[in-house]
Amino acid sequence: MKMTIEAGQENLIVGVVGAGAMGRGIAQVAATGGCQVKLFDTRTQSSKEAVAFISTMLDRAVDKNRMSADDAKAAMARIEIVDGMSGFADSHIVIEAAIENLDIKHQIFTDLENIVAEDAILASNTSSLSVTTIAAGCKHPERVAGLHFFNPVPLMKLVEVINGVRTDPGVIDFLIGLGTRMGRVPVRVADAPGFLVNQVGRGYTIEAAHLASEGVAGFADVDRIMRDAAGFRMGPFELMDLTAIDVTHPATEQIYGQFFHEPRYRPSAMMKTRMDAGLLGRKSGQGFYDYDDDRQQVPEEEPPPEFDGRAVWVSSSNPESRGQVIELLQTLNVSLDKDKEPGEESLIVVTPMGVDATTACLEEGLDPEHTIALDTLLGLDVRRTIMKTPVTDPIFTRSAQGLFASDGIPVSVIRDSAGFVAQRILAMVVNIGCSIAQSGAATPQDIDKAVTLGLGYPHGPLAFGDFLGSDRVLEILISIFEMTGDPRYRPTPWLRRRALLGESLLTPES
Ligand code: NAD
Repeated sequence: MKMTIEAGQENLIVGVVGAGAMGRGIAQVAATGGCQVKLFDTRTQSSKEAVAFISTMLDRAVDKNRMSADDAKAAMARIEIVDGMSGFADSHIVIEAAIENLDIKHQIFTDLENIVAEDAILASNTSSLSVTTIAAGCKHPERVAGLHFFNPVPLMKLVEVINGVRTDPGVIDFLIGLGTRMGRVPVRVADAPGFLVNQVGRGYTIEAAHLASEGVAGFADVDRIMRDAAGFRMGPFELMDLTAIDVTHPATEQIYGQFFHEPRYRPSAMMKTRMDAGLLGRKSGQGFYDYDDDRQQVPEEEPPPEFDGRAVWVSSSNPESRGQVIELLQTLNVSLDKDKEPGEESLIVVTPMGVDATTACLEEGLDPEHTIALDTLLGLDVRRTIMKTPVTDPIFTRSAQGLFASDGIPVSVIRDSAGFVAQRILAMVVNIGCSIAQSGAATPQDIDKAVTLGLGYPHGPLAFGDFLGSDRVLEILISIFEMTGDPRYRPTPWLRRRALLGESLLTPES
């Protein structure tokens, strides 16, 4: 396809189909990026509301000194409402942001092809449909691509530029330029279910849902661990309450189906049941949390019990973790049981990676009634997670809880699980990031850039793997996979090879 238009050209005309939540945001950033904007919605009222909304947004930007009044006025003057698709006849690019329905999108693209010039580019803001499938209904699929913005558009810097199987490379280059002109950070991604960001996001939410439905930990506990220990801005359950489960769960089902039931994306039956029950989240007043006047009601953590002062014996099966625990115990002035075998009344601490407390304790011939497991993956400074075997004596659990909370650091107590909460969720996120890198759908650097910008994670999945130690993540996944037999935990070749080679997970193929 011969490219005759340039993203930076002065009189660039951008058509936007659909003036809903996304269309109005796209129109706003196109106008502030100096493009002429034509906006169409089957509901004219939507277009009018969109223009009024954009005007309010720009006024606010002026009030906050983020924009001059002249620039805001000029941007508004560049937006024109058109009352039919024929209004796009002179558009250089049309971005479709109508409802998420393949038949409707096919119809829109067919209509557009009959209206726009031969060299005009057509893009869809779809979040869950295949760009290739949308383009397949077109006479010229080479001019069709995905331009996936995030909500709210003016605040979310990321835009995924999706390369359909038949998209012309010049179209992708154009859209990268246009995204930049609109003040976004564009990332090239090959067409795949959930593209990039929504694929990685599944790892965070679905693994949490599986953990909760296995009874390992409550919703609030999982959220606290992921916020405090792992450094996420929001825990997975409060995040799903914000997005609403009737958005998250169907999207998960769709990605799972489009991947022909790849186990990593397997939805949780618990989520479907809660969705059917109407526990949608913040918008319905009840989700994983209750909401009172939109305020999340978080159950208080029980104050920790007093430590009973018993001696503590720490397993040496994982010397690095043992070192971390001993260092902490020394600061807590605890009597350490340094014998080869634990004493009769000693609290036994094991520090497994990917193994459950029961297995870790029985492998060493330890007494499961006196044993707890401590998660050392993320350090012990902000929140500590202890895991019981099914038969840990409650006196020993309380002793451990009191001990590890005795310096004021909060402690979460969870039930036995191969991999603790953070180990499981983080290993899943890292592994999905690695599977995207393996597929070549995006460069390793772009995967991390997209996830930090689009999801606000403290690190991208590949850098997170490096931070935790890719050998550790591999060990966790191999252990969970062996213990559960569930292929969702099988490590990707990308992770395995780089961990074995001692290379960063950001290392591309040579
Ligand atoms: P929305 O319901 O807020 O807006 C859709 C608008 O499209 C409505 O105003 C509707 O009247 C209009 N419309 C419907 N059919 C049309 C047609 N044939 N021609 C012109 N206009 C038509 O939806 P939204 O949240 O803005 O989503 C739009 C698209 O963006 C969807 O494909 C969605 O998957 C995608 N998306 C949404 C989000 C999000 O968080 N909301 C994020 C990324 C991508």
